[in-house]
Amino acid sequence: SAQKLVGDQLPRYVRVNTLKTTAEDAVDYLKRDGFCYLGQAGRLEDLSLKRKDFVRDMLVPELLVFPPKTEFHEHFLYKAGHVILQDKASCLPAYLLNPPPGSHVIDACAAPGNKTSHLAALMENRGKLFAFDLDAKRLATMSTLLLRAGVTCQQLAHQDFLKVDPDGPQFKDVEYILLDPSCSGSGMVCLRDDASSADQEKVQARLASLASFQLLCLNHGLKFSRLKRLVYSTCSIHSQENEEVVAACLQQNPDFRLVPLLAQWPERGLEPLTQCLRASTTKTRTHGFFVALLERHTGAGSKRP
Ligand code: SAM
Repeated sequence: SAQKLVGDQLPRYVRVNTLKTTAEDAVDYLKRDGFCYLGQAGRLEDLSLKRKDFVRDMLVPELLVFPPKTEFHEHFLYKAGHVILQDKASCLPAYLLNPPPGSHVIDACAAPGNKTSHLAALMENRGKLFAFDLDAKRLATMSTLLLRAGVTCQQLAHQDFLKVDPDGPQFKDVEYILLDPSCSGSGMVCLRDDASSADQEKVQARLASLASFQLLCLNHGLKFSRLKRLVYSTCSIHSQENEEVVAACLQQNPDFRLVPLLAQWPERGLEPLTQCLRASTTKTRTHGFFVALLERHTGAGSKRP
């Protein structure tokens, strides 16, 4: 189908796992392996690559970009956990949350753990990374991924995030939360499938139910008392799961506001939530995606009458 074709034409994004190596060493290894390094990309067009060419991304410092469909699953760097195969848009949440080494962090809906491993890399494996997921099978996959990636600061739990006690003593120093809840997946180019109009009612009901789950998760995350910042992301293109969820949450949590994200990013959240980011095949050469960063107000201004 046309959508599949678009998906096959997305660049292959490869995130270097800085727990195991450096971007420089990975680049050197790949050059010796027959790839041709063109330096750091300067603009979107530089991400359209051919043959054995590759570049470093202009935004995410540890991200390498290859031509569409470049095969890495059998590559040494992948098997040894030196690189993670992860779409550029899906690198944004951890990159933007940017928890410092030593901090306490929650990954609320974590499996299969690509973003968890990214968080651990940013934390340099120091501090605490609590990761929850409801799905035992996906958690098992996640354990394998984290082991291969050399992640050691995590505490995995097979648990419903909505039932995690925000006042639990083990969470008292949690300042950062990454929330990437289940969504329709409508941004995943390979999954995109135009439902016939007869199915529209079902589609709308599913979106409404996902959105209410997403809002519950968001509100729950904001209950952790020391929380500074929460990043919310979906791989959905539907405003019901994105801007509408965030707007409802902000209305219910006046102590939090949106952080304006990356002025240079070409695709914004829908009005009026332009502080948020969207991503798409045409504007950002990625899957469809949405990211919002919420932060607690500090100082006297935070108390409302
Ligand atoms: N962040 C992951 C990554 O980057 O690899 C992908 C997460 S996926 C979009 C959403 C996950 O949420 C699924 O693995 C699903 O099992 C999990 N989930 C759904 N409901 C949950 C709940 N109530 N508590 C915790 N996890 C939940």
